[in-house]
Amino acid sequence: MQHAIELDALRTKIGAAAAPMAEAVSACVHCGFCLPACPTYVELGEEMDSPRGRIVLMKEVLEGNLDLEEALGHIDPCLGCMSCVTACPSGVEYGELLMPFRELAEGSRRRSLLDRLWRGLMLDSLASPSRLRWMLRLGRLAAPFRGSLRALLPARLSAPLDLLPRSADRAEVQFGTFPAVGERRARVALLAGCAQQVLAPRIHQATIEVLTRRGVEVVVPREEACCGSLAFHAGDARRARASAGALMQIFRSGGLLADVDAVLTNAAGCGSGLKEYGLLFAGRPEEEAARTLAAKVRDVSTFLATLESEAPPPLPEPLRVAYHDACHLAHAQSERAAPRRLLARVPNLTLVEPRDWQICCGSAGIYNLEEPELATRLGRRKAETLLEGEPDVIATGNIGCLTQIESHLRRLGSGVPVRHTMEILASAQGPS
Ligand code: SF4
Ligand code: SF4
Repeated sequence: MQHAIELDALRTKIGAAAAPMAEAVSACVHCGFCLPACPTYVELGEEMDSPRGRIVLMKEVLEGNLDLEEALGHIDPCLGCMSCVTACPSGVEYGELLMPFRELAEGSRRRSLLDRLWRGLMLDSLASPSRLRWMLRLGRLAAPFRGSLRALLPARLSAPLDLLPRSADRAEVQFGTFPAVGERRARVALLAGCAQQVLAPRIHQATIEVLTRRGVEVVVPREEACCGSLAFHAGDARRARASAGALMQIFRSGGLLADVDAVLTNAAGCGSGLKEYGLLFAGRPEEEAARTLAAKVRDVSTFLATLESEAPPPLPEPLRVAYHDACHLAHAQSERAAPRRLLARVPNLTLVEPRDWQICCGSAGIYNLEEPELATRLGRRKAETLLEGEPDVIATGNIGCLTQIESHLRRLGSGVPVRHTMEILASAQGPS
């Protein structure tokens, strides 16, 4: 059974994004292969909380047969993890339906004043390193009262306290140009990112060490901050376009984009959002520039896996590493092989493959702040499955997953550390 949607009517309402939305709706043959891959379906067991159910709901809203608010009860819990895209044999591009739908819904849904303020505060704080530093300071002052606050406040307001890193990482992200060690083989721009540069600047340092040791010159633009992906994935396309526009300007000025072989990110959520810039600016004057930038974006693991390099020296002790696939890398960017290949080349390192790799950890941008109950169920499930392989360390390629998994391991009483893939590679290659 296939559903078609009336394209002309949709175009009037939505503009350039209408065609891919209609295409996604009509490509779905309702086979249900995506259901067991969908975290919300697995947790809730309801057809309307599955990809197939959501496609029908969105179609009905777009055609005016269903009230938006009714559908949102099932659309909001969608993590945007794109596990359904990986699982779908018919090639349904679910993201090309979901993202414009969320933008459309944001424009006409009813949000309370408190909800709007809270959402704005979260998105603005995570996108701005200086604001996030302040929020972390406040959070640390409140941390000793976490238990009482959890009892007093709604889950959405107390959720950020549970995700606070236990210790402050005092390092600062370094900007500027970092020369290649030995002969230069490539020149790249590396995004410093927003939340990650405050929560774990050590990841940035490790990424520069790994790249430069393999002959890559790295440029970290000073002015750059948020790429807008967090806001885009949360349905706030207006905010996302403002951040993305500023980032595109930085890459245009001084010809930086033309002067590098690739634009690298070490946060999967940013990488997938950057690759969606064409969708974000569809039908706007900036679309071509957005697509040009997006075409140069690579995850750091994808880029590194294309460079021949010597294997690092053997680790002094055997190390079991459970690799957690970040959805925005594995599903949204179809990259599962490169990080595994890089880690597997480290002598004395054993890769552990966790069960249910395709199921999201519940982080998903600001999802764990907006839908804390379901995110907690998914976070706990993920921490438990990762521990089954008795790893010494858990590796992943996204700061959101890292924070979420760390927090749930802590709640289970586990001290297994969670590290970015680049941190493991940097420590394996030894000091410069
Ligand atoms: S697997 Fe693809 S075609 Fe089948 S129901 Fe899911 S989205 Fe539709
Ligand atoms: S994006 Fe993830 S949560 Fe949403 S429908 Fe697809 S699999 Fe389910």
